[in-house]
Amino acid sequence: MGFPLFIILFLVSGLLLFAGLWLYYDQRDRKYYDRKRQLSVYHCVRCGYLYSQRDIRKPAACVRCGFVNDSLKF
Ligand SMILES: [Zn+2]
Repeated sequence: MGFPLFIILFLVSGLLLFAGLWLYYDQRDRKYYDRKRQLSVYHCVRCGYLYSQRDIRKPAACVRCGFVNDSLKF
C-alpha cells in the first residue's frame, strides 16, 4: 500500500516542479518581450537622424545632436 502512494507523491511533486518552472519562465519571457515591444521611434527635426528609445511616447533627446524630439505617431 505504501509503494503506490510513494509513486503518486513522486509524480505529483514532479508535475508541480515543472508547472512552477513553466510559470516562472513564462512570466520572465512575457516581461522581456513587453519591454522589447515598447520602443518609440523618433525623427530628429534638426539633423534628420532616425532613432528609437525604450520610453513610451515621451520626448527624447537625439543621440546625434541632442535636440529633444517628440515620438512619431503611426
Ligand atoms: Zn538630431
